[in-house]
Amino acid sequence: MERVIDAKTTVIWQKEPEDRVAEPALLVKGYLDVIAIQQGSDTININREALPEIIRVLWRTLKWATKVWNPVTGCTKVSQGCKNCYAERMATRLAGRVGYPADEPFRVTLHPERLDMPRHWRKPARVFVNSMSDLFHSDVPDEFIARVFGTMSGCKKHTFMVLTKRPERMLKWLMRCGNGGGLGWITHNGAKPIAYGGDGIVVGENDRWPLPNVWLGVSVEDQTTADERIPLLLQTPAAVHFVSCEPLLGPVDLNKAHGFQRPIYGDTGGYPPPERLDWVICGGESGPGARPMHPDWARSLRDQCADAGVPYFFKQWEELWRKENT
Ligand code: SF4
Repeated sequence: MERVIDAKTTVIWQKEPEDRVAEPALLVKGYLDVIAIQQGSDTININREALPEIIRVLWRTLKWATKVWNPVTGCTKVSQGCKNCYAERMATRLAGRVGYPADEPFRVTLHPERLDMPRHWRKPARVFVNSMSDLFHSDVPDEFIARVFGTMSGCKKHTFMVLTKRPERMLKWLMRCGNGGGLGWITHNGAKPIAYGGDGIVVGENDRWPLPNVWLGVSVEDQTTADERIPLLLQTPAAVHFVSCEPLLGPVDLNKAHGFQRPIYGDTGGYPPPERLDWVICGGESGPGARPMHPDWARSLRDQCADAGVPYFFKQWEELWRKENT
């Protein structure tokens, strides 16, 4: 169970034992004076100064996801939306602990020991994949991505949400996947992936493709990034396509970005091609140095989605909220 008592800092978050696998181990024990992060049997005492940051992560993740799963940590910045990357701040604070390299905590780091974590979660969960990284970063090998998809393939009771700012590679990678025919395959049976020849990758044997429980999304912050990333997303085979407009740094016209149009589409593996985005998330920036979001930008997205009949989720507007309420 998680309970947010107060939006500032007075938070209790308790999870049942089987849920103690979220990473970055966001189990906050007790009240403000008894703060620890726990992962498995490791308990890490943290500085009270870090608590607001942890709460921000909770707010960001738990409202739309019930778990975070980070088989990869670390990243590099690609656009303005990365400027105040919370994952980088968290990695810096956790340097030398829970898998973050001491010398360069935000370096892209693979965590193969975490690949099977979702298999042990008994309750169906909405899983935010790689909240502390970007699965399609160029330093993440194809084969490791296949192993991540292999786990997702084997955990149909969970819904996995993969969000990237690198849709070019996501498209390229997903278009190499398929569920049959002459494609080369990488299978994943819960243990090691087995690479076959050819250019193809497949992550689950006899599985439907695209995986029905994997949602793919892009993160955009303004019109430029929307125009670049959304068309690539919509060409990528996925059961659900979503866009996260967070941190929203400028107005975004989703029609201009072809968000509600039928995209050019390749082999869908038997699935009908998507006609448009299935889900739009919007949020402002938070944390130190947060850049403001104009309310009209959020309203515009809401109205665009209403007109298109696409679900819209306003995630948070913490920075303005704090200014108005403290
Ligand atoms: S892509 Fe995401 S995780 Fe990577 S630096 Fe940018 S905001 Fe951070």
